[in-house]
Amino acid sequence: MPEPSDLTSSLQDVAAPAERSSTWIPPATGACRSELQLFVDIPEEPAVARIAREEDAKRICARCAVLIECRAEALAASDAEPAGVRGGLTLEERQAIARRRRRRGGRRATGR
Ligand code: SF4
Repeated sequence: MPEPSDLTSSLQDVAAPAERSSTWIPPATGACRSELQLFVDIPEEPAVARIAREEDAKRICARCAVLIECRAEALAASDAEPAGVRGGLTLEERQAIARRRRRRGGRRATGR
């Protein structure tokens, strides 16, 4: 079993430059820890390849024991998390959820 510091190094090795600023460390029991290359964006990756990679990552998330907790954390950090599949969601999906939540919050605040 690799040490967490080894996995962090592995993540940095496969991470795209923009992703290297991410503070994300896969949960200790995350199913992604053995396939981190699927969870980070690749510069200039063709859309078809990106979608296929993200679908592969989501399949791993779907059988992950910490999916609920990971998703909640990823959504809480959606503005700070620059890229990649987290908690079974792509960055675009997390951003869409965050926008919906903000709109709902705004409606509640204004009473509409
Ligand atoms: S839900 Fe996905 S990203 Fe989160 S720990 Fe599990 S496999 Fe990794």
